[in-house]
Amino acid sequence: MALEIVRVPVLSDNYVWLVHDPVSGDTVVVDPATSDEVQAEAARRGWTISQIWNTHWHGDHVGGNEAIKAATGCRITGPKGEAEPIPGMDMAVGEGDIARIGGLTAQVWDVPAHTGGHIAYYLPDAGAIFVGDTLFAMGCGRLFEGSPAQMFTAMQRLAQLPGETAVYCAHEYTLSNGRYALHVEPDNAAVTARMAEVEIARAANEPTVPTTIALERATNPFMRAGSIEELAKRRAEKDNF
Ligand code: ZN
Ligand code: FE
Repeated sequence: MALEIVRVPVLSDNYVWLVHDPVSGDTVVVDPATSDEVQAEAARRGWTISQIWNTHWHGDHVGGNEAIKAATGCRITGPKGEAEPIPGMDMAVGEGDIARIGGLTAQVWDVPAHTGGHIAYYLPDAGAIFVGDTLFAMGCGRLFEGSPAQMFTAMQRLAQLPGETAVYCAHEYTLSNGRYALHVEPDNAAVTARMAEVEIARAANEPTVPTTIALERATNPFMRAGSIEELAKRRAEKDNF
């Protein structure tokens, strides 16, 4: 049976992901910004949180770690290469390591750029990747600790995944990202069509993620950047757009 993946919206624009394996009962929380809403959603579904997977050290990704661990005794897996500690971390992982949910394997990718040790969790058998603040719908994370070259490498690597791969990012930034994407490529019909849908969804306060790799290849100005220099220019321009 397939994994069940549930979005928990918290704070102003964060998405926490609850990932449940119905066979084993294993339930992973990806990047718990907070604890109360996440635990309430798990309880409502009758799920027991057994693990937390963090992608990077920022407070809006680890803020719920300690409270959830105290309440459930869950095991926390996080990036080993970060400048700041991950609260309550039991297992530090990086490129080439794996994490497990039930019988499924997540491959850990190093995708430094937004932070120095940022990681992603790719589950090939589920067709899903949890990217934290690296790739967003029509956007990418800000370069707080890394370089345009690192983000370019991450975008190119993500673009190689199968097009149908579902991309679970940690924020609802799509409207703002899409306005910038239209500025970069005013004649890109895929961006225009997507923005029409995004505007309707957001006006109804509906989410626009997960996205897919195919959709990002067609519409994301950072994945579509042809060089490090082009990505750098777009990232700097978007910072003040
Ligand atoms: Zn962040
Ligand atoms: Fe964030």
